[in-house]
This record gives sequence, C-alpha cells and structure tokens, in this order.
Amino acid sequence: MTSQATTLNAGANGNQTSTANMIELECVEKVYRTDRIETIALTNVNLSVREGEFISIMGPSGSGKSTLLNVIGLLDVPTGGKVTLNNRPVTSYGDRHLARVRNEHIGFVFQTFHLINDLSVVDNVEIPLLYRKSLSGSERRKLALRALDRVGLHARVHHFPSQLSGGQQQRVAIARAIVGNPRILLADEPTGNLDSQMGDEIMEVLSGGTRCPAESKPTSNSSRRGGLLRRSALAVSPGRVRRIG
Ligand code: ADP
Ligand code: MG
Repeated sequence: MTSQATTLNAGANGNQTSTANMIELECVEKVYRTDRIETIALTNVNLSVREGEFISIMGPSGSGKSTLLNVIGLLDVPTGGKVTLNNRPVTSYGDRHLARVRNEHIGFVFQTFHLINDLSVVDNVEIPLLYRKSLSGSERRKLALRALDRVGLHARVHHFPSQLSGGQQQRVAIARAIVGNPRILLADEPTGNLDSQMGDEIMEVLSGGTRCPAESKPTSNSSRRGGLLRRSALAVSPGRVRRIG
C-alpha cells in the first residue's frame, strides 16, 4: 500500500527561479539500535531540496518517511552521512543556533500533532512566536488568528484541543507550523485525519503556506501559489529514497 503522505515545502520567499539547495542529504543513514534489535530506517539517502520545491514523500508504513522528515527537520541526527542546511553542515551549528534555525526557518506538522492540552487553540498556535522577541502580544495574536483562518478554524480559536475532532486538531497543528512563515515546511501525513475535500484544501494551504502574504491579503492568485512551486515526489521503499518526478 502506498500512501501519499508526507510533504516538504521549501517554498521560501517566492523566488521561484532560485536553484539554491536549502537542504542536502549526502549518503545519509539512520539505524535504530537497541540491545537486541537493529533497524535500518534509512540507507544511503542522497537528496537536495531546492528553494521553491514542494515534495510529496510516498511510501508504505514503516518505510522511513517520518525518520526522513525528522532528519531533514533537524529533530534527529543520522547515524551516517551528512546533512547540510543553507550550505553549512548542520553539525557546525551550536545547539542554541540550531534551536533558532528550527524555530525561525522550519515549520513541522507532527504525525501525532503534539498540541498542548492545557492551552487554547489560539495559544497553541502562538507558541512558535513566543521566541520572536520582536513581536508584541497583539501581533502574535493577530498572526495566530490569521493562520487559524487559513485552515478554516476561526470559529474554534478558544476551544481546547480535547474539544476538537482529530481533523480539527490536525489543522491546529498545521496553523502552528505555518504561523511563523517558515522557509521550510515539513508535514508528516498532514491529511491523514481529514476527509478528501478538507485534505485537498489543506494541501493547498501547505503548498502555498510558506512566506505567504504575511502583509497582504491573500488573493486568488497568491492562494494558488502552490501551483507555481515545482512539484516533485520521492518514493521511500524500506530505507531507500528515490525521486520519481
Ligand atoms: P514511516 O513514517 O514511513 O511509517 P518510520 O520512519 O516511522 O516509518 O519508521 C521506519 C522504520 O524505523 C520502521 O521499521 C520503524 O519500526 C523503525 N523505527 C522508527 N522509529 C524508531 C525508534 N525510535 N526506535 C527503533 N526503531 C524505530
Ligand atoms: Mg510516519
């Protein structure tokens, strides 16, 4: 069974002609080791993600999609090979710098959402902005409400996660990932809990979801910006990754 599941949007700053490699993986390998079992999750993965690229990662359950996204999103380190972000090996970044890169440049939609149950929907979405010292409270709120609007959740902003359906929680997680206008948006099975129409709409938000008109009102043109991104796909079969388009 193949699932078109996981997406990666390096839609950056609207410069669709740039060929700069934002992320490069060279000979990346990930082996999970416990006392008894060794699981090879990724083997010899070579991948360049260019600015302006929207990539779907497809593969059966257990094939390594989440592992790949975690490595790309700097949440996990490979057991072999090299990861380069903006032409710099990620191992050359200190922990604090890396945390900042993650916060400012990478939006992540986790397969299991990771929402904070004690916080309202809008407070959850504001979390990534708390680290941006330049933003006032009212600016944070405005951006969070705008992100929630984009995922169709304006009527649920004061609910708590436990009061929402799985699909609504997924949309909160997506709003939280796009609220900071990241250069790179990583989404792990972002439509897994949505019906097909909502899934299509969310893919639209995701594919135009970075550096989207923060200041200007979305127009029909800009909301279709996803269509301008170079679309490509990766197939993951246990551990191996190849481009299929
Ligand atoms: P997918 O997202 O495509 O379903 P994953 O990346 O989650 O696949 O998993 C790839 C393989 O790595 C699977 O065989 C899985 O069992 C294994 N794996 C994932 N995470 C761990 C872990 N923390 N410890 C041990 N094995 C793991
Ligand atoms: Mg997964």
